Amino acid sequence: MKTYRIACIPGDGIGKEVVPAGQQALEALARSQDKFNFDFQSFGWGGDWYRKHGVMMPADGLDEIRHHDAILFGSAGDPDIPDHVTLWGLRLKICQGFDQYANVRPTRILPGIDAPLKRCTPKDLDWVIVRENSEGEYAGVGGRAHQGHPIEVATDVSILTRAGVERIMRFAFKLAQSRPRKQLTVVTKSNAQRHGMVMWDEIALQVSKEFPDVKWDKELVDACTARMVNRPASLDTLVATNLHADVLSDLAAALAGSLGIAPTGNIDPERRFPSMFEPIHGSAFDIMGKGLANPVGTFWSCVMLLEHLGEQAAAQKLMRAIEAVTADTKLHTGDLGGSATTRQVTDAVCHRLLAA
Ligand code: ATP
Ligand code: MG
Repeated sequence: MKTYRIACIPGDGIGKEVVPAGQQALEALARSQDKFNFDFQSFGWGGDWYRKHGVMMPADGLDEIRHHDAILFGSAGDPDIPDHVTLWGLRLKICQGFDQYANVRPTRILPGIDAPLKRCTPKDLDWVIVRENSEGEYAGVGGRAHQGHPIEVATDVSILTRAGVERIMRFAFKLAQSRPRKQLTVVTKSNAQRHGMVMWDEIALQVSKEFPDVKWDKELVDACTARMVNRPASLDTLVATNLHADVLSDLAAALAGSLGIAPTGNIDPERRFPSMFEPIHGSAFDIMGKGLANPVGTFWSCVMLLEHLGEQAAAQKLMRAIEAVTADTKLHTGDLGGSATTRQVTDAVCHRLLAA
């Protein structure tokens, strides 16, 4: 029987509650069949590690997880530590260290969820947003000069490389091609960002020629937010830069009912390194330690993890268990207007998996 090695990094806040919940769901799934097993290894990196060692993770941390089959991540964020330190010191270190250049964010309205768009049925909203995850506006290049003086300047340089844009476009077209509607919207801002985004558009046109069966269009990022609200069914797969997709995917998560449900995968499509799966929500300090966090975003991230491992049947089985549980409003957590606990939702999903 095959054993997958999974590195678990709960991180901070509710990450410490939802990652163990995800691990329990995967364990129940493994027990429910005899094809594969998991070997979980947990790493206590994040805010607590920072308080002890002055860094978010050890210098050789990437080597400790380099040979795992996948990473299940919780959240990085601590009220005592500046956000850019927690982000760059852990999550982005892993994304960049393992060149996880494609960030994939599926959005659907799950059964039983009361989503905010009243005219929108679940079949109208089925998107995957592909976020460029290695360069662009978050390239980390820039600086400050004359700090505190009236002439102070600060820059964040957005870097787009031909190689970086080509690989994310190709990934997005391929993903669009694999979905039933074979449709891609390339999000841009080439009317205002006159250099990088113009190259982005040119490369989209060039790569589209390799995928003649994919219908594609271009949309300005500002217009795209309105289209997501007004004409959700006109979208299927989307690709956008790091910053644009960051904003669009929070909107997408809210339109699907809650930040607590949305999953994401940070993928190395070439499989040189482990890919990392995580709920899109942050550490949510307002509810941490109370057992109230919605674990569904983490469960759905586990579905993506299983798909990445090639375990499609198991992935579908877990997704069906999640949908059965969201369909029962008694099992909704606070973010969905209910009063269920992390424990109750997790037990319900595990129970379904073992009963199936
Ligand atoms: P970070 O700074 O790490 O991004 P945050 O405090 O901004 O974290 P988010 O996770 O971004 O918090 O979410 C904003 C709010 O949404 C939280 O304060 C919380 O009330 C709610 N929320 C987010 N995720 C969940 C969840 N899984 N279950 C329940 N509520 C959630
Ligand atoms: Mg936040």
